[in-house]
Amino acid sequence: MFKKDFKYFENSDIVYLDNAATTQKPVDVVSSQIEYYESYCSNTHRSNFGDANKATQNFENARKTLKEFINASKNEEIIFTKGVTESINFIASAYAKDFKTVIISSLEHHSNIVPWHMQNRSLGNGLEVVKCDNNLDFDMHHFEELLKQNPKAFVSITHISNAFGKIHNIQEITQLAHKYNAVVMIDGAQSLAHTRVDMQELDVDFFAISAHKTFGPTGVGAIYIKEEYLKDVNAYQTGGATINEVDFNSSTLLDSPYKFEAGTQNIAGIIGFAKALEYINRVGYENIELIEKDVFNYLNEELSKLPNIQFYNDLENCVGSRSFNFKGLIHDDVGILVDKMKIALRVGHHCAQPIMKQLGIKGTIRVSISFYNDYSDVDKLIIALKKALKMLE
Ligand code: PLP
Repeated sequence: MFKKDFKYFENSDIVYLDNAATTQKPVDVVSSQIEYYESYCSNTHRSNFGDANKATQNFENARKTLKEFINASKNEEIIFTKGVTESINFIASAYAKDFKTVIISSLEHHSNIVPWHMQNRSLGNGLEVVKCDNNLDFDMHHFEELLKQNPKAFVSITHISNAFGKIHNIQEITQLAHKYNAVVMIDGAQSLAHTRVDMQELDVDFFAISAHKTFGPTGVGAIYIKEEYLKDVNAYQTGGATINEVDFNSSTLLDSPYKFEAGTQNIAGIIGFAKALEYINRVGYENIELIEKDVFNYLNEELSKLPNIQFYNDLENCVGSRSFNFKGLIHDDVGILVDKMKIALRVGHHCAQPIMKQLGIKGTIRVSISFYNDYSDVDKLIIALKKALKMLE
């Protein structure tokens, strides 16, 4: 029903089921970027002529749109980045590096593991990992133990696992972490495409956002920094557009957000991202959640009928991604065959090698849906999987 809003579906006969990797972009997101490049392309926050002012205005409106979208309290709390990976690296090196302990979960994406290793942290040596149970649920008791043992830790946890679709209860996690004076950052890469997030309700301290996973352009993201932390976060990179005053001996920086946004930003992308958020508002999260639940349940029902299928978690607290294998088959072989049948899904470790190792597997077949997917996509997937299984018999 919503495919008509996306040119991709007009131009392609692929069954797109790789939404956890990136989402498709609605017409407005693409046209707003073309409009910027074709009719008022200028730099922001520098020049003072008409088009430059328009670019600055639209850029700052995008910040306001995102601020309102996630219910941050101030525009200054929204800093644009290249994506979640840059947001996490930024906070890791400009703030969290001084923390004795960082706590992550077993379900993290490499983007929320490797930056901590780059600080020479490893398991038990400045890095602690909250266990998950057999259903891949976050172990709150283990988390509390780690918080007790490591006072004033920095907690960096994903909201929704890209590999298994598991939703962490970040409100509960944050409340518990704050009880032990920990500071909390959430990897929200998979969040905004599926569900509303409200910074006041969640009370998290940092929240990393990805535009391209949220129907927006690639190479754009943001980090929400709760106002009380703005003064403690160092500038990650500096240069043009970050400064108040410079001479050959010293420089002084502007306040947030400008001191954090060095150099020319992805202006078109940021303007396009705001259009993606406006689009979500028009569709409504009530509809998104309803459709996704329905299609996700149907997907699960149909997959469950296939022989020798192996899931790693049930559907409880799950959204978007369904990961599985077929006993005795290599996930890559299945991926190659369904690709030939025009099914776009992902096979592999999904940038989450540690949890794959814990499960004793090299990877999975992952189907990840969005609200524009429907039953017919699932039916085509199932036909392709059945054919692939027959070929691999
Ligand atoms: N975290 C999670 C859970 C992800 O799914 C991804 C992307 O796959 C990332 C982080 C990285 O996001 P980005 O592509 O915006 O850097």
